[in-house]
Amino acid sequence: MAFKIGIIGTGYVGIVSGTTFAETGNDVICVDIDEAKIEKMRAGKSPIYEPGLERLMIHNITEKRLTFTSDLKHAVMNSQIIFLCLPTPPDADGSADLKYVLQVSNDIANIIKEENITDKKIIVDKSTVPVGTSQKVDSIFTSILGENNNVFVCSNPEFLREGYAVEDAMKPERVVIGTSSKWVGEIMKDLYKPFLRSGNPIYIMDEKSAEVTKYAANSFLATKISFMNDLAFYCENVGADIDSVRLGIGSDSRIGKRFLFAGLGYGGSCFPKDVQALNFSSQQEEADLLIVQATENINKRQTERFIHKIMNKYDNNVKDKTIAIWGLAFKPNTDDVRDAPAFKVIDKLLAEGAKIKVFDQEAIENTKAKYGNSLIYSNDMYDCIEDCDALVICTEWSIFRTPNFDKMKKNIKDNVIFDGRNLYELEDIEELGFEYHSIGRRVVNAK
Ligand code: NAD
Repeated sequence: MAFKIGIIGTGYVGIVSGTTFAETGNDVICVDIDEAKIEKMRAGKSPIYEPGLERLMIHNITEKRLTFTSDLKHAVMNSQIIFLCLPTPPDADGSADLKYVLQVSNDIANIIKEENITDKKIIVDKSTVPVGTSQKVDSIFTSILGENNNVFVCSNPEFLREGYAVEDAMKPERVVIGTSSKWVGEIMKDLYKPFLRSGNPIYIMDEKSAEVTKYAANSFLATKISFMNDLAFYCENVGADIDSVRLGIGSDSRIGKRFLFAGLGYGGSCFPKDVQALNFSSQQEEADLLIVQATENINKRQTERFIHKIMNKYDNNVKDKTIAIWGLAFKPNTDDVRDAPAFKVIDKLLAEGAKIKVFDQEAIENTKAKYGNSLIYSNDMYDCIEDCDALVICTEWSIFRTPNFDKMKKNIKDNVIFDGRNLYELEDIEELGFEYHSIGRRVVNAK
């Protein structure tokens, strides 16, 4: 059965969810307050870099199953299921700021009241929100529409990964629905059926458990990364190699190979804010999550340690240095620079007076929006390193893995590389004659 769906907020989650729901035959109206974005999407242009997305958007726009508007009322009046895909940024104290979710819920409730809409509607929270938010949203509808209203609030946390978002949305490893209504559960099962044909599960649980599941998943993954980063420092001190240790432990299926790569710290729009929000919530509830607190602290320290390696090499003076940075996005295959570790490196080096040249395959525009003329932007990875003193690698884009080392040697004056992603084999780089600082491994050719 095809549903009429409203998507409120067309960021990374909203536009991918809206497009993939349309792809499975539903009629989808996407709403955003950003008019420029709406215009762009109407013209079949994706507002974000996400492999495979634009092709699907164009297909479904042509089929007239996917439309865009800034008119919330139009979407509310023409949708049975309304997804909230709104930002939940961190507040100053680390808690998740719910103002977008609560305001839009309030607006929807008022539209239902003013337009005297009586048919049943399901409001689905796809944003990552603290435990108890479904109840808060539900109470907004109850206070505006009365006890016996026809609005059903449910939680449906999103697990897509930027860079693989279309694939993840079309074939989710699992779908989690938080609802106490059997009817809502059945509707959501119907909606997700086409995405779960390979037999992946849909778990129906209570709202609070669904909300906690999302934070638990992200915090667990962040904890794996922080564990390896912490261990990397230990390896540096005792003369072991974190990548050998990674291979040694990752082949144990109880541990698993993924999320074991040491680096300069995790970033992005999800891990840092979700770990912070879970920590805040656990402290509020007087149920401190000590491991999650350590995860957050280790991550901060990890980026600082990496920056320290660069500053230390130059005796804390980079004033006359030109530093090239490869990779700005918080991870490859995305243009997302929110909480990107590269920006922390840039902030420090800029503050210390270094000249900075940057290259990234997709994130240059988003970087310009923050740094304007303070950086030198390159469209080519080798232009970026021309006449630089050192190269710093912050994102593991594939093209950095097998570069032209001859060109690098000609361009990087001191032949120094700080690799925050452990891209190169130590023996190879040693033979090539680079001074090479990586994470959790010995320093090569130190001068
Ligand atoms: P985003 O910032 O990319 O997009 C949010 C969109 O909402 C923007 O386009 C913004 O203009 C729009 N918006 C803001 N106020 C609005 C309003 N009143 N009406 C209509 N539109 C409005 O955010 P995102 O990355 O898509 O994340 C959304 C939520 O999903 C967050 O809670 C996030 O934690 C969660 N999440 C994100 C990811 C991810 O990989 N990005 C993955 C899983 C979950």
